[in-house]
Amino acid sequence: MLPEPSCNTPLPIMLFDQQKLAPSFGYVFDLSWLDIHDSLLSILWKFIKMNGVPGPVVLRLLAKTDIDPYDGIAVCQSEMNLKRLQQDFGLSAKVIRDSFTPALLGNAISPHFRFCRRCLSRGYHGTPYQFQSVIRCPIHADLLETQCRFCGKSSAYHLNAMLLNSPFRCGYCSKRYGTFAPDFAHRLPLKKSARRAITRARILHC
Ligand SMILES: [Zn+2]
Ligand SMILES: [Zn+2]
Repeated sequence: MLPEPSCNTPLPIMLFDQQKLAPSFGYVFDLSWLDIHDSLLSILWKFIKMNGVPGPVVLRLLAKTDIDPYDGIAVCQSEMNLKRLQQDFGLSAKVIRDSFTPALLGNAISPHFRFCRRCLSRGYHGTPYQFQSVIRCPIHADLLETQCRFCGKSSAYHLNAMLLNSPFRCGYCSKRYGTFAPDFAHRLPLKKSARRAITRARILHC
């Protein structure tokens, strides 16, 4: 019979800043889940959905400074620990750069999360969808939306616990944005024409 653990036995303590979101800590992330110009929100949603990790944990580990995850941080390179994003997720510098909207565009970027329902059904939200001048989805030509069809609320395009805890769903009512649950781990790659359309939208509108 094994001896009862003593109350005095020291437990292994892991300092929070020693934690990572990397495979060595049991997390999974596969680059095949990504499409061209996937937004940072889209990338984080995929990570959170596949690992079942709470949004605040991800936010605390990826923020450059000590933050309140319920207040969150702007989707902005200067707010993020880019090195950790690169190392833990295995993202290239280009994929990271493409996942942010250019900081200089200011009002040209929507303050609300803008989406195409058909793209979200695939598990995709492209960075160009946040440009105010991109009115329609470059792939499907559907009008981009900001309001949840169930509760009518718009979510701020801002990384906080509420948004991150509801991958591909409305943070207010938890209803799915797309018509079905995205299965981004088992889908075909985007067609060349779709990839071109996304790239064109990114280049023409910024
Ligand atoms: Zn679309
Ligand atoms: Zn809603």
